[in-house]
Amino acid sequence: MPEPGRPTDRTGACLCGAVTYHLTEPLADVLHCHCENCRRTTGNFVAAARIDSAAIEVTDPDGHLTWYRLPYARYGFCERCGSTLFWVGADHEGATSLMVGSLDSADGLRLGGVWFSADAQGHHVLPGDVPHFDGNGDY
Ligand SMILES: [Zn+2]
Ligand SMILES: [Zn+2]
Repeated sequence: MPEPGRPTDRTGACLCGAVTYHLTEPLADVLHCHCENCRRTTGNFVAAARIDSAAIEVTDPDGHLTWYRLPYARYGFCERCGSTLFWVGADHEGATSLMVGSLDSADGLRLGGVWFSADAQGHHVLPGDVPHFDGNGDY
């Protein structure tokens, strides 16, 4: 039974609209990550929420979803417009972290914590009311 305010029918898309998705389960709380990889891939920091990989139904008729692979993670992006949509940890293939900026609506999502908070750039005001982690928390 879904929690109130945590809809299971969320949708989202990349900037150009070539890659869209529909979620069949609720998202977990949002995590911010300020590690160097997330900073460079997004241009600032990742704001992502985890979901079972099988609960993301991607529509990508022209095959634009592309994965940039690192030894410990892969980032999924639209090779047409450059939007980063997902990241997946190498040891956690069953779970996908979805970039919440790609959602059509983020209503009801909550921030759960900040990873690599010590690495945040100086202009960024860190939220004070959630846990901060030197690394990637309990992932
Ligand atoms: Zn696109
Ligand atoms: Zn990161």
